[in-house]
Amino acid sequence: MSDVLLEVAGLKTGYGDLTVVRDVSLTVRAGEITVLLGRNGAGKTTTLRAITGLNKVSGGTVDYLGETLTDPSHKRVAKGISYVQEGKRVFRELTIEQNLLLGGFSRRMSKRALAASVDEIYQLFPILGTKRALIAASMSGGQQQMLAIGQALMARPKLLILDEPSQGLAPVIVKEVMERVSELKSTGLGVLLVEQAVQDSVAIADQVSVIEMGRTTLHGAAAEINMDDLQRAYFGGTA
Ligand code: ATP
Repeated sequence: MSDVLLEVAGLKTGYGDLTVVRDVSLTVRAGEITVLLGRNGAGKTTTLRAITGLNKVSGGTVDYLGETLTDPSHKRVAKGISYVQEGKRVFRELTIEQNLLLGGFSRRMSKRALAASVDEIYQLFPILGTKRALIAASMSGGQQQMLAIGQALMARPKLLILDEPSQGLAPVIVKEVMERVSELKSTGLGVLLVEQAVQDSVAIADQVSVIEMGRTTLHGAAAEINMDDLQRAYFGGTA
């Protein structure tokens, strides 16, 4: 079994005095995808914000590479945690290449290292290479989502956190984005993916975790998850 990158145990977090997440646990391993599912308002984004240091952890632990994280958000990026927030928009009036170069900004890389990173992104997402000189606004929603992911990859993360990359995309494009995300596993990257597209995301997942009202109610290996249990947890027993 591959190395554990992220281990969240009994997480409690929220906004100021408001506790939204009461007991969330999940694991992400290198070269694997963990999908975090749950209805609107269940606490998925809030969980991601605690993992990335944007929200305060008030109980439980967030361990990354065996160390409990307490440092601020920007230091977590430097440690290899990249986060593509929900509805993340690229810089529409900049070219694809300029968008990618901005993604590498946080790493203070040499020009040569930056160029090498950009080339790697073009290998992963050939469409970005083909359109490198065009402005981002000229691309489709799915391509812009891939650019947003490419931008996050420019920081050379070990753990990539994606909040609903399929949002607002047509079903056929959702499948394509999921395929591309799935391909990232071969680079050894661990991915924590929050999704509403249940079937498509479970199809590429190694681990699945479901949150209901701030608590993890179902988790396990994707191959062993019973879809009926998943439906019940996800739809609160109405499926
Ligand atoms: P969605 O799919 O709608 O994004 P989610 O599972 O990601 O759902 P969260 O965004 O984590 O849910 O929200 C969980 C709860 O926290 C909701 O009740 C929401 O109203 C509340 N919440 C979110 N952001 C804030 C905030 N900035 N201040 C106070 N409460 C918030």
